[in-house]
Amino acid sequence: MAPTIRLGKILGIEVGLNWSLIFIYALIVWTLATDVLPVDVPNQGALTYWAIGALGGVVFYACLLAHELAHALVARRYGMKVSGITLWLIGGVSRLDGDPPSAGAEALIAAVGPLTSFVIAGLAVGLMFATSASPLVSDVFAWLAYVNVALALFNLVPAFPLDGGRLLSSLFWWRQGTRQRGVHSAVRIGRVLAYVMIGLGIVVTFTISPVNGIWLAFIGWFLLSAGSQEEAGTVMKAALRSVPVSAAMSSPVVTIPDWLTIGQLLESVAPNHPFTTYPLHDPTGALTGLVRLGDLVKLRREAADGRLASVARPISEVPTARPDEALSSLIERIGAAIENRVLVFDQGKLVGIVSPVDVARLITVRQGSRP
Ligand SMILES: [Zn+2]
Repeated sequence: MAPTIRLGKILGIEVGLNWSLIFIYALIVWTLATDVLPVDVPNQGALTYWAIGALGGVVFYACLLAHELAHALVARRYGMKVSGITLWLIGGVSRLDGDPPSAGAEALIAAVGPLTSFVIAGLAVGLMFATSASPLVSDVFAWLAYVNVALALFNLVPAFPLDGGRLLSSLFWWRQGTRQRGVHSAVRIGRVLAYVMIGLGIVVTFTISPVNGIWLAFIGWFLLSAGSQEEAGTVMKAALRSVPVSAAMSSPVVTIPDWLTIGQLLESVAPNHPFTTYPLHDPTGALTGLVRLGDLVKLRREAADGRLASVARPISEVPTARPDEALSSLIERIGAAIENRVLVFDQGKLVGIVSPVDVARLITVRQGSRP
């Protein structure tokens, strides 16, 4: 999940918010101001309830951030790249690139989040007693203790993408030798749990409480799809670990003069080649950019006479790779940029292009040939 509002950097880690969080924040403040606080500490002004509620909501998200920061900092200690933290709805996501180096590392990275929430809950209990002279503030700390324990316990549910799922997966990794097997076993257990939640959710919907039932079923469904995604990701990485970039790339590469027009490329060059991407070169032969046929076809109507150089993606923005590099490490390194193209250079010479289609084809072939 990419952040939509950037908050800035904390300890060198980019932190952002997703829009969805604003609605949940409003819901939290509303619950505090109209339900929790007036019930526990009656006979105060409405404005006081709302002001304390608004503060309580902010502190709640600070607690959530502390939980995610704990994951991110431990991951960074193990040499993993942390591309940022996004807070959304009722949770946070630490975007970690690559796999943890060992089962122990994965266990620690997962465990430190709930541990942080438990520690915060303990602190909140202490502050609750320390502020007992002002009942409203004390009540907010009681509520914070409660939600942080709930946050820790929910995250310990053994299903992906929750911390409990990762803990379970690291345990299986340690017992069964590889991360892929660990994830596979953990996903199977998480799936059973998710089906139980969906089943229970349906029963609860028609018997006890529709709202709680629908929530339970929804969380079950979410865990189900997250588990499948996690497994597909690990299977893909495992399939690509021993494959060099050179096996996936299209080669040789046809480069096009960047002073040609869009119309010229579409009419006289493209029909003679099977490629969907063309690197461009200037009159000296130096590479200047990259164009994709799909983009050009869209531009054709209004700008058929436009020069390719003016619509190309600058060469400095195009990710590059070496032919002997493992495909799995390339995907880890460039992440989502695989949606674009990667140029492959061997000792300064352009030898190939990797496209997502190339990688997808390779994965299919590798999976088909597995014993
Ligand atoms: Zn967590």
